[in-house]
Amino acid sequence: MILELHKSLMNKEISAKELTDKYLCAIDSLNPDLNAYVKITRDSALKTADIVDRKIAGGEEIGLLSGIPMSLKDNICTENIETSCCSEILRGFVPPYSATAWQRLMTEGAVMLGKANMDEFAMGCTGESSVFGATRNPHNRDFVAGGSSSGSAASVASKLAVYSLGSDTGGSVRQPSAFCGCYGLKPTYGSVSRYGLIAYASSLDQIGILASSAEDVSLVFDRISGYDPKDSTTCRSHSLCTFDSLNCDINGKRVGIPKELLDKAQGEIKAAVLNFAEKLEKMGVEVELFSMPVLIDALPSYYIIAFAEASSNLGRYDGIRYSDRADSYESIHEMIVKTRTQSFGKAVKKRIITGTFVLSEGYYDKFYAKAQKVRKALSEKFTEVFGKYDVILTPTTPKTAFKLGETAVDKEAAFFADLCTVPANLAGIPALSLPCGKTGLGLPVGVQLLADKWQENLILNIANMYEKLTKDDSIAGRGWVL
Ligand code: GLN
Repeated sequence: MILELHKSLMNKEISAKELTDKYLCAIDSLNPDLNAYVKITRDSALKTADIVDRKIAGGEEIGLLSGIPMSLKDNICTENIETSCCSEILRGFVPPYSATAWQRLMTEGAVMLGKANMDEFAMGCTGESSVFGATRNPHNRDFVAGGSSSGSAASVASKLAVYSLGSDTGGSVRQPSAFCGCYGLKPTYGSVSRYGLIAYASSLDQIGILASSAEDVSLVFDRISGYDPKDSTTCRSHSLCTFDSLNCDINGKRVGIPKELLDKAQGEIKAAVLNFAEKLEKMGVEVELFSMPVLIDALPSYYIIAFAEASSNLGRYDGIRYSDRADSYESIHEMIVKTRTQSFGKAVKKRIITGTFVLSEGYYDKFYAKAQKVRKALSEKFTEVFGKYDVILTPTTPKTAFKLGETAVDKEAAFFADLCTVPANLAGIPALSLPCGKTGLGLPVGVQLLADKWQENLILNIANMYEKLTKDDSIAGRGWVL
């Protein structure tokens, strides 16, 4: 889609301003219902579009992302534009600087339409914990869009943005992508700078991309990835270009499906994964089931590590530097307690308390140290498995989208939703969710491809070839009912 839009802009079939206007009009009519955007940056979007138009009129070269309308998750800092993490405690926070990933897109001439809704502090998997209310699933408004990048996924799926940047700590790009029927990439840890991404769990967080094709994901990834002196975890020695290998022949590639994750998926999702595998076999890929029991231990370990890191990262929100303070207090301690109590949501408080607990004396070895051991064992096992398979194929989620309010009753269901996505974050490897059909209820199903570190090109290549093969399966492409 990005390449076609770029061509239309260059051929003057449409101006960047007209394109932006079109998207803004669609946002005006659909957003009140979907709640994908929490802030619309109309003026700056039109201003950027105007600059792009003037460049085109002057015969200047423009980047491929110039003039292309997009959305940005509300935990990615935007200079002079409120970035609230959809939390009361950061309401009104206007960052004095921009995140590197966003800065790189701005340099390209990207048109940001607005800030996308999300679970508070990116903690959750339904989008319902946002202080601005839940995002609705564009395929069925009674269902959630997923989380935590709920607005990013809903904006792409409902054509209110061409692509979006989200963040993925344990599945927050891939899971909403699966629920809304788009492509979502969680890149290798250290490939995209986290500078300016508001931290949830720093050893797991990565900025990711949501779009409506593997090609679009690749185009954006190639432009935002790479070494950043402002983030010491980014890597100097790896400069990734995924676009050139999108159309490589995948004949002879080896794909493994771990039984443990396939068996936990609901019937229609299992069928989708096997259907996907069959299509790959048609293209000469060798597919095999294998066993990797440690995958099941990833989920509890993830929650211990993520909560522990969150309890430390969120310590900075104390009512002194951020947020409105509590009205009355008698000591600084009381002020901090009152402010944090009134301004953090329930899910966030629960995580801070649990995270503090697992790090406390007497429990550190029992929980935190043990979880780190599982993380190490998981990484080692992945290294071994990638000696045998090029790519691992799994469901993205064990179930399709929840009904609005469903996880308030069935709390365990929300945690279980992350079963297949958290292993990639713990091991730091790249993972992509792509759409591969719909259930009888019309809800999208996603499958996930994982590869070894710095192998984004491989998973995007396979996704792109699959997309080409199945393009004609329905008008929507890959939209057949399972
Ligand atoms: N649902 C997971 C959690 O709540 C993942 C969130 C994320 O990736 N940001 O921790």
